[in-house]
Amino acid sequence: MADAEPDFRDRVILHVDMDAFFVNVELLQRPELRGRQVVVAGSGPRSVVLSASYEARALGVGSAMPTARARSLAPHAVYLEPSHGGYREYSRRVMEILRSVTDLVEQVSVDEAFLDVTGARRRLGGPVAIARGIRREILESTGLVASIGVAGNKFIAKMASTGSKPDGLWLVPDRRILEFLDPLPVRRLWGVGEKTAASLDDAGLRTSADVRGAGLEYLRRRLGQAAGTHLHQIVRGIDDRPVVVERLEKSMGAEHTFSYDTDDLREILAVVLQLSHDVARRLRRSGRRARGVAIKVRDRDFTTHTRSRALDQGVTTGREVYEAARRLLEDMGPLPSRVRLIGVRVERLDEGDAGRQLSLWDGDGAAGLHDAPEWDGAESAMDVIREKFGPQGLQPARLVTGKISPRYAPDGRSGSREDPSPVSDEKTP
Ligand SMILES: [Mg+2]
Repeated sequence: MADAEPDFRDRVILHVDMDAFFVNVELLQRPELRGRQVVVAGSGPRSVVLSASYEARALGVGSAMPTARARSLAPHAVYLEPSHGGYREYSRRVMEILRSVTDLVEQVSVDEAFLDVTGARRRLGGPVAIARGIRREILESTGLVASIGVAGNKFIAKMASTGSKPDGLWLVPDRRILEFLDPLPVRRLWGVGEKTAASLDDAGLRTSADVRGAGLEYLRRRLGQAAGTHLHQIVRGIDDRPVVVERLEKSMGAEHTFSYDTDDLREILAVVLQLSHDVARRLRRSGRRARGVAIKVRDRDFTTHTRSRALDQGVTTGREVYEAARRLLEDMGPLPSRVRLIGVRVERLDEGDAGRQLSLWDGDGAAGLHDAPEWDGAESAMDVIREKFGPQGLQPARLVTGKISPRYAPDGRSGSREDPSPVSDEKTP
């Protein structure tokens, strides 16, 4: 067998995806619900399903579905509010395990990541051994189940993990890519939305193989240049997108330029509140805490004033960032003539695993140990919804119906990622 074709000619990519993540985190606290139909969903009129147990999925309940629709499909299921901050902490633990395998980890959402293990194979003993090790370690240290797809690129790895669920591990060698893809319905292909699938269906193209038989020009005419080109590639199993590692920022900021100069303190504070929530969201996504907050105020003469303060305790919430920023603004005294720009930045970032984050890890019983549990929980729940489904996850249900998450967009980036728009590092007088 010395001359056998290797499974992978070029790269080896793992796609790690937690099974029914939000449900399974809840079940750790409520094991008596195991084996039952369980749905984690908001209860408001515009809420959507975050996650459903496989028992509930059997009735057709799925992620991003309006809660009202889920209730009509599964009226006897147990519905749980996405409440406590534990999701973020379990996510962090899982990502930590993945980063112990390789630095080349791209976190796609709270419960999903790509790993490029091309260079780690020799050290760790082949991709299947690596994937088995990851699944075992996640299960042992968190009690949660991960499914993993192993393939030569991100697209096939993602399709393989999806196909392997639940509790699966699936390796698709390069030579078997077409065998794997060809029978799949078009709408199951990662990146293909409902509209595209419907349009292709009208043209009689139902499977991946059907699409592969269509010409490039035909697909471009039918779907547009970019979508047509992308589809032409993926049905051949071609995907050159790299695993992109987010760099660890030293600080995170956001700023706002007013369309007119203002000295209206209420208006300025409303913007500070919005900016505080923006930076706090990015902070939580990075799994870190801030031990410092800074503000920047630029007046109409383009003079920039900054103030910063250290915080005794690391913060993670928009409310806490806002409180610190507001005090800094007050400390400035009277506003420097009219304001044209305001910025909020969190700094002195550290890993979120010390202090009160540990109290979150301990579960609901310890929630009283940290100082802003209700804000942490509510903001975290909004974060995870945004991360899973993009901003429209928080919009009226009718806009969400039948829509594929934007993180399945052809560029493979999360639709929820905001532009970083960092506060610039310019020197101030
Ligand atoms: Mg998942």
